[in-house]
Amino acid sequence: MLKINEIFHSIQGESTYVGNPTVFIRTTACNLRCTYCDTKYSYYEGQHISQEDLLKRVHQHGAPYVCLTGGEPLLQKEVLPLMTALCDHGYRVSLETSGSKSCREVDPRVKIILDVKTPDSGAADSFLMENLENISALTEFKFVICSERDLDWSENFCRQHDLFKNFVVLYSPSFDVIEPQWLSEQILQRKTAARLQLQLHKYIWSPRLRGV
Ligand code: SF4
Repeated sequence: MLKINEIFHSIQGESTYVGNPTVFIRTTACNLRCTYCDTKYSYYEGQHISQEDLLKRVHQHGAPYVCLTGGEPLLQKEVLPLMTALCDHGYRVSLETSGSKSCREVDPRVKIILDVKTPDSGAADSFLMENLENISALTEFKFVICSERDLDWSENFCRQHDLFKNFVVLYSPSFDVIEPQWLSEQILQRKTAARLQLQLHKYIWSPRLRGV
């Protein structure tokens, strides 16, 4: 059984899967407390659901993409066989994780979105470095930028670990903290290979699209 905060059908707002109709499975609990967290409601609330029932509910929505998000999905080991079962059923599966827990046992067919925490998140030391050795080329790195300091830090992290050469790197302005225009200018001025990512769902979100 997995403790699930919510399941809903919406438009993917992030990663290179952006824009795709997607079923989101939000797991309960997180080991971090980021300053800008917009899903605090996932820390404790949820209900226990079996893998079989989760597969049925995903199927009912009829979308080809499934995204495991949180909270921190990797806190519950049952998420690993669930992702494998979803891949076996032909879904394109993505996993949003902070990278603070090991990704070693994640099915290689899953696109992992590693949301590396920057200094202004308050959780900059949470990334598990061994994850850099256990990921496939499908993996994407995301950095939520809250300040110039965060941008400097992210640039250093990416260059130090050769991320620009081997992976998609996404810079996302912290919503209502950093202007997308400022971040766009910085990306151009710095000649960085990162891609600008706006959180599309925050522009289109509607209560009509959600439902557990
Ligand atoms: S990792 Fe995600 S869910 Fe957890 S505190 Fe940070 S933003 Fe919130």
